[in-house]
Amino acid sequence: MDIGIVGAGIVGLAVARELALTRGARVTVLDKEDRVGAHQTGHNSGVVHAGIYYRPGSLKAKLCRDGVALLREYCAEHAIPYDEVGKLVIASTPAERSGLRAIADRARENGVPGLAELDALALREVEPYAVGVAALHSPHTAIVDFPAVARRLARDVEEAGGSVRLSHPVRALRETPTGVEVLAGGPDGPRRLRFDGLVVCAGLGTDAVARMAGVAGDVRIVPFRGEYYALAGDARDLVRGLIYPVPDPRYPFLGVHLTRRIDGEVLVGPNAVMALAMEGYSWRDIDLTDLRRVAAWEGTRRLAARHWRTGVREVFGSLAKRAFLSAARRYVPALTGADLVRTTGGVRAQAVARDGSMVDDFVIDTHGRIALIRNAPSPAATSSMAIARHVVGITSLLDS
Ligand SMILES: Cc1cc2nc3c(=O)[nH]c(=O)nc-3n(C[C@H](O)[C@H](O)[C@H](O)COP(=O)(O)OP(=O)(O)OC[C@H]3O[C@@H](n4cnc5c(N)ncnc54)[C@H](O)[C@@H]3O)c2cc1C
Repeated sequence: MDIGIVGAGIVGLAVARELALTRGARVTVLDKEDRVGAHQTGHNSGVVHAGIYYRPGSLKAKLCRDGVALLREYCAEHAIPYDEVGKLVIASTPAERSGLRAIADRARENGVPGLAELDALALREVEPYAVGVAALHSPHTAIVDFPAVARRLARDVEEAGGSVRLSHPVRALRETPTGVEVLAGGPDGPRRLRFDGLVVCAGLGTDAVARMAGVAGDVRIVPFRGEYYALAGDARDLVRGLIYPVPDPRYPFLGVHLTRRIDGEVLVGPNAVMALAMEGYSWRDIDLTDLRRVAAWEGTRRLAARHWRTGVREVFGSLAKRAFLSAARRYVPALTGADLVRTTGGVRAQAVARDGSMVDDFVIDTHGRIALIRNAPSPAATSSMAIARHVVGITSLLDS
């Protein structure tokens, strides 16, 4: 079988590897950028989530736990640094205790190992500069370099006889009775490729590829930029691992947190502001066509009507360093404005349903010979290898 995969992010590459190694498929991965992992895979917090927050029984809950095990083993096998620095979810006021307890119950139900509920003193043994009234400690939550994992997955694909074609934007596609024809542009102009099946893992480009395939669907991608500051110099020593707030259950985002990265940097962020282009990495990136499409989706209008207050607060936070500092100082009060320097952020491809709700779980649709990953936000990098197994298991692409 010849299978095409749109997107050389961590999910597309994991799917390609799984198809090549377990099904013997000939795979071709197409990406419009000149490197693998150019978008969400290369612009995230680098946290291997342990499965704390997700609704028990959901795809996220299952594929996150399975994904951690697969990823840890894969990193060990390929000597990719993987560090279990541990995570604290901190309640900073007594009012947040009940939210923390609810999260601890969920985490236990999801089978997260090694959990401990800590009081104000005990949490300082884990993070000496942190404060709070109580915390949940997940000692096995880890950090990794997701782009390095993506590069290794791409090598596996090539070693299995597949190909990863970069600078190959998919411009058009059409399903035929026997396969899928794809027009993809390479350096010498677009070429027509023919596959027996196609898997779309296009992140922020998902809706555009879905439109090419003539598959409307009931959700649309809304781009939410996540901005970060980094801690400068010695301030990095104030954070050993990962420090998170108790999240607001109304949103799928986890709130501004402090995260140590595998390269020793410590990030503060990300916030969540609606971007003005699918690949809107800054306020200057504006794409009127993207904006019109996002605004035309009734789900976006309902979402905006419901959450405009938070939206205004987040926009203020986006513009003001002060807002990041005060979010970080709630957990690590020793931080000062001079410790925070602006760094690059990422844009989340978050699906929004017609009723205005942000789709919480992973969404994977199949339409004839095309499988579409329609919602793969965090923790999809953590879960990528398990998502790949799941996609290969549920699609009938290889049975036809
Ligand atoms: C700010 C932020 C923080 C995050 N933190 C974490 C975290 O700590 N842990 C975690 O597990 N997850 C985290 N995530 C989520 C995680 O990064 C994503 O879920 C994951 O990277 C999704 O991978 P992907 O392969 O689906 O998408 P992507 O990496 O975005 O890949 C999609 C690819 O499709 C390509 N493409 C799009 N359209 C076309 C086209 N027409 N033709 C050809 N190619 C196309 C793009 O160029 C891109 O390379 C975070 C995300 C963000 C934005």
